[in-house]
Amino acid sequence: MPEKSNVISIDVEDWYNSSLDLFKDSDVKHGGRPDPSVVGNMVTTLELLAQTENKATFFVLGTVAEHYPDIVKEMLNAGHEVATHGYSHRLVYNMTPQEFEDDIKISLEHLSNAGCTEVVGYRAPYWSITKRSLWALDVLKKLGFKYDSSIFPIRRGLYGIADAPTGPHEPRQGLWEFPPATIRFMGVNLPIAGGGYLRLMPYKIISRAIRKAKSEKIQVFYFHPYELDPLDTNLKHKAKSLRTVLYWLQQKTGRAGNPDKLRKLLSEFRFTSFRESFSTHFK
Ligand SMILES: [Zn+2]
Repeated sequence: MPEKSNVISIDVEDWYNSSLDLFKDSDVKHGGRPDPSVVGNMVTTLELLAQTENKATFFVLGTVAEHYPDIVKEMLNAGHEVATHGYSHRLVYNMTPQEFEDDIKISLEHLSNAGCTEVVGYRAPYWSITKRSLWALDVLKKLGFKYDSSIFPIRRGLYGIADAPTGPHEPRQGLWEFPPATIRFMGVNLPIAGGGYLRLMPYKIISRAIRKAKSEKIQVFYFHPYELDPLDTNLKHKAKSLRTVLYWLQQKTGRAGNPDKLRKLLSEFRFTSFRESFSTHFK
């Protein structure tokens, strides 16, 4: 039997426009044109995946597909799965069910214009399917999605359901949920899947956790293209609140070592897309 593949997923967005919910003092609105740096960072991402011989799922933000369709075509040409991250990066629980549905439909239109004919997966901005917005699963099912990867089984400021299942499950008939990887420590789930957690945690701990996981357990990891570019952390408005400054500093921490850490992870373990890893789940 071949070595099992874990899943690597990449939320395709630029750093600033996808962080607006943390910058309460910014006048920039959701849904604007992403910074062109997302294209350069995606080229680096595609090169890294090719060099380490992995396939991935890209949750592409609708505004990226709208303004930079060619980079979406490159993902498809390289054999990766393209799924949606919604259109405007608004938090799901800040939308009505109708707004949520419209946001996804617009994203699918732009993905379709970029050549994606079959999109079966969704990931919410900031994992914002929480207990307040579980109705989103019904909308996803209605729109024909086969899976969602938006429920983080931990509780944090903007997101998470602490007691949600940590493995694949089917919360609605025909709609699978694939949560990001966590490890159990002192009775609580600790995230190891990506973003700031992957950036700040020593690589050895992550590597050991993946090795220790039951052989049949596929683990879901994620990162953002901008994490391969340690310099792409420009704050594009004048910070007026301490919270913004603290968040910004936190975002910059660990960035320099991150590209090497991701390269190690992608070289040491085998990764593939949701579609390939879980194909037996989809009818
Ligand atoms: Zn995002």
